[in-house]
Amino acid sequence: MNRLILASDNAHKYREFCEILSGTDTLVIKRSEAGCDFDVEENGTSFAENAYIKAKSVTDHTHTPAVSDDSGICVDHLGGGPGIYSARYGAGIAHDDHERMMHLLDEMKDATDRSAHYVCSICCTFPNGDVLTAEDICEGTILYEPVGSGGFGYDPIFRPDGYDRSMAQLTPEEKNSISHRGKALRKFLELYKRYLDAHK
Ligand code: IMP
Repeated sequence: MNRLILASDNAHKYREFCEILSGTDTLVIKRSEAGCDFDVEENGTSFAENAYIKAKSVTDHTHTPAVSDDSGICVDHLGGGPGIYSARYGAGIAHDDHERMMHLLDEMKDATDRSAHYVCSICCTFPNGDVLTAEDICEGTILYEPVGSGGFGYDPIFRPDGYDRSMAQLTPEEKNSISHRGKALRKFLELYKRYLDAHK
């Protein structure tokens, strides 16, 4: 069986990676269970760089293949922000997902251009130096107030293109079929299967 360490302890991400990789004879192991209790400075300048930094640090430490994802929301009116800083947006004022979302709404109160997109970048690193990367986006609009209780993060204020509901009003299956993470994961699955086939 193949072993792949997820460079995260996020239970939500762990479930998603386990599900998508279920047909590949791969045991997905959480970062902490692989003895990686060190902090990693995500000092990259892009989602892809930060995903690489996270996966590589785990592979270097464990000499085992590792996979990570880095994601966030990019808002046109904010020059692409908060982007790679989505998880710590409004630091000092906003302390949790809800406060960060309300902070974003506040920054958008005079904005007429409300276009935005989510990005998800996935990176898988191998002990021999091989790297697989997959990235995708989900385009949409920032609403004027939160709607819905599903999803997480900025989902209640994000309406995906082609829908008249917020991301937080979609079922998990609907979100997965169009989300940045769902699409990037499916791209990654294809690359990973091909890689395994070529390295049997
Ligand atoms: P990270 O990828 O765990 O570093 O954090 C990404 C941050 O971007 C999260 O904390 C959320 O604020 C935001 N984000 C990423 N993906 C989503 C999503 O699918 N819905 C809502 N917010 C998201």
